[in-house]
Amino acid sequence: MPDIAAALDMSGPTVLQIVKELREARVVCEAGEFESTGGRKARALAAVRDARYAVGIEITRHHIGMVLTDMTETVLKYERTRKPFVCEDEYFKQLGEALDEFLGDDGTVKEKIAGVGISVPSIVDGAANRITYSRALNLYDIDGDVFSRYIPYPCVLLNDANAAAVTECIADSQLESMIYLSLSNTVGGAVVFRQDPAREDASGPLNSVFENMYIGKHWHSGEFGHMVIHPGGKTCYCGKKGCVDAYCSALCLAEHTDGYLERFFDRLEDEDAELMEVWETYLDDLAITVDNLRMCFDCDIVLGGYVGSCIGPYMKELQKRVEEKNIFEGNGEYVRACKYQKAASALGAAVYYIENFINSI
Ligand SMILES: [Zn+2]
Repeated sequence: MPDIAAALDMSGPTVLQIVKELREARVVCEAGEFESTGGRKARALAAVRDARYAVGIEITRHHIGMVLTDMTETVLKYERTRKPFVCEDEYFKQLGEALDEFLGDDGTVKEKIAGVGISVPSIVDGAANRITYSRALNLYDIDGDVFSRYIPYPCVLLNDANAAAVTECIADSQLESMIYLSLSNTVGGAVVFRQDPAREDASGPLNSVFENMYIGKHWHSGEFGHMVIHPGGKTCYCGKKGCVDAYCSALCLAEHTDGYLERFFDRLEDEDAELMEVWETYLDDLAITVDNLRMCFDCDIVLGGYVGSCIGPYMKELQKRVEEKNIFEGNGEYVRACKYQKAASALGAAVYYIENFINSI
């Protein structure tokens, strides 16, 4: 208790009262005793794992993924099914039915669902609960309520890259500021500002990851896919020429293997000469992008999305290219592959409601 009081800068009696209320609400419980350091043995407190559950739904052009989590913010259950997106009532009705089926017959879980976070590959105006634009889902200015019409829990829409970046943050509690570069069928990203907890001027807890996200004035922050790396180059879907998206999206690789990215990496591993050449060019373009981000933000860069999930064995090659461009430190270790490869956006979306619950206590 004295440790908690000191960490939170609160008086002992206040902490005692709060802990009492949390125990009565079954949010925390006793988890044994620490070894005595002289006086009475200190009691350990832990969050009650099942105080609340939350669901994350990841909607993509062709699939729906679902994740169930609890206070531990880990994946308890994950399912992904093929379901092409169509913006019609029937789709959203089936989404509600799929969620009900996913949660099963366990009434105690359903009773404790804090909410359902829905990750979409879209620009999301969170305050107005609207999708302003989605290339992948072919949407323009859509009311977010249509997504939650058949879901009997509180819902929130979240940009997929922001949600995935949150997952990366909870996978590494020591993570400082970070740029998440999402390399999927389109290129996007997220900007996370966090202070080094070891720094003397660091303030506040590190767990409010959503508050650490820089969204921008028009929710366009992190749209790294539309930075121009080759002026006058390939035409991007946005109409500009030379955008990162036209060089670094997963489609740029998958188009060489009938649209299957896994096949690209399988053949690359088998040293297919044609694909090795494609890959060399891809790495060069990715290195330019990564270096530009480093120059802007001076923080770690995490590669996520479909390509980020497969790039692990080739990170040294990328780091070498990045290192050559780094005029300040002369090393490229600041860029790495994501730790969470499956269901990253779905878990991040679910965590939204767990964090909300924690913050509401
Ligand atoms: Zn573009």
